[in-house]
Amino acid sequence: MFETLQDRLGSILNGLTGRGALSEADVSAALREVRRALLEADVALEVVRAFTEAVREKAVGAEILKSIKPGQMVVKIVHDELVAMLGSEGVAIDLNAPAPVVVMMVGLQGSGKTTTTGKIANRLATRDKKKVLMASLDTRRPAAQEQLRQLGVQTGIDTLPVVAGQSPTDIAARAVQAAKLGGHDVVILDTAGRTHIDEPLMMEMAEIKRKSNPHEILLVADALTGQDAVNLARNFDERVGITGLVLTRMDGDGRGGAALSMRAVTGKPIKLIGTGEKMGELEEFHPRRVADRILGMGDIVSLVEKAAENIDAEKAAAMAAKMAKGKFDLDDLADQLRQMQKMGGMGGIMGLMPGMSGMKDKMAAAGLDDGLFKRQLAIISSMTRAERANPDILKHSRKKRIASGSGTDAADINKLLKMHRQMADMMKAMGGKKGGGLMKQMMG
Ligand code: GDP
Ligand code: MG
Repeated sequence: MFETLQDRLGSILNGLTGRGALSEADVSAALREVRRALLEADVALEVVRAFTEAVREKAVGAEILKSIKPGQMVVKIVHDELVAMLGSEGVAIDLNAPAPVVVMMVGLQGSGKTTTTGKIANRLATRDKKKVLMASLDTRRPAAQEQLRQLGVQTGIDTLPVVAGQSPTDIAARAVQAAKLGGHDVVILDTAGRTHIDEPLMMEMAEIKRKSNPHEILLVADALTGQDAVNLARNFDERVGITGLVLTRMDGDGRGGAALSMRAVTGKPIKLIGTGEKMGELEEFHPRRVADRILGMGDIVSLVEKAAENIDAEKAAAMAAKMAKGKFDLDDLADQLRQMQKMGGMGGIMGLMPGMSGMKDKMAAAGLDDGLFKRQLAIISSMTRAERANPDILKHSRKKRIASGSGTDAADINKLLKMHRQMADMMKAMGGKKGGGLMKQMMG
C-alpha cells in the first residue's frame, strides 16, 4: 500500500522543536511531501500547484499549539484545506423545476453513464417516490439502447421505446414529450460517449441540451481518471455547461484524485459517487472521506479531530485564565470572532445557549452581525501587536492608518472598539462567576 503522508511528514517535522510558529522552511519541506502524495493520488498538476499555494499561505506563520506536534499542525491545515476545496456534502440532485424535470448524463464512453442513469432513476423512484422515464440517446453502439432497456426491466422503471433510425436529438425531444404525456416527474437522458473528447461529441451534447432544456447536466467520470480529469471536466463544463459531477468506480483502489481536480477546475459540486456495478451502489459524496483517501491516511481523521479538540481546549483554557484576571484584548476578540465564524455565526451560537437573548441584543446594538465578522477581523489584523493588546492607545492617526490598511473607515473602527469594550465588560462579569464555564461552552 501507499506510504502514508503522515509517515513522511513525521520524519521531516519531528526535527522541529514544537514551539512558536511554522516557518517558511518547515512548511516548504512539508509541502513537498504533500505535493508528492497528491500526485500519487492522481490529482492534476495544475490543481496540485493551486492547492499547495493555498496551504502555504495558511500555514506559514500559523501558531504551533503546544498540545500538538508541528507535523500534526501541517497535516491538519492540509486536511482542512482539502475538505474545503472538495466542497460541501450532500448536494442533492435538483428537481426544483416544472415536471418533467430533465436530467442529462454526459461523459466519456465507459465512464458509467448508463449504469448511473439506472442507479439514479432507481433511487428517485424508490426513495423519493418519483415517476421516472429513462431514455437512451446512444445510437452509436447497437447494444446501448438495449442495455438501458434491461436496466429498466430490472428496476421496474419506464424506458422510452426504441425507434430505429432516430438521431439523438430526435430521441431527446421524443423523450421529453413522452414524459409529459406519461405524467413522469423526471426524465433522464443517457447520452452516448466517445473514447476521448472531440468536436463532434461536444456539438452533439450542445445540440441535445438545446433541444431538451435539461435542469441538471451531470458529468459522469471514472474516479480513476488521471491527469486527463482537468481537461475532461473543463471541456464539458465550458462547452456544455455541467451542473454537477458523479464519480464512478469509487469502489476501485484508486485514491480518487480526480475528484479534487474536477471539482477545482469547474467549481461544480460532486453530487454522487458510484461504488459498484449494482443498482443500489450509489452513495452521497463525503468530502472528508475522500480527503482522507487522497492523502492516503486511514487514521488521519482521528488525529485531526484530536488536534482540533486540543486546539479548542487549549484556547478555552487560556481564555478562561485571562477572564479570571479580567483581561480581554483585541487578540482575544479576534479569536472569538473566528470561533464564531466556525460555529455558524452569531445566530447559531446564541441559538444554542439558553438565556442569551440579552447578550444577543446587546451585540446587535453594538453592530455585531455575521456579515461584519470579516471586516472586523480585517481591522484587527491591520493593528500592531501593541494596539491589539492595549486598544486605549488608538487615537486619531492610528485609526486612520488602520482604516486604510483594512479598507474600512473610522466609524467601523469605533464600532469595533465599542463592541470590544462591551464584550470585555461582559466577559469580566462572566469570568468572575465561574471560571469561564460559559466561555468554554461558547468555544465548543
Ligand atoms: P457508459 O459507456 O458511460 O454508459 O458506461 P456503462 O454504464 O455502460 O459502464 C461501463 C462499465 O462500468 C460497466 O461494466 C459497469 O458495470 C461498470 N461500472 C459503472 N459504474 C461503476 C461503479 O461505480 N463501480 C464499478 N466497479 N463498476 C462500474
Ligand atoms: Mg452507455
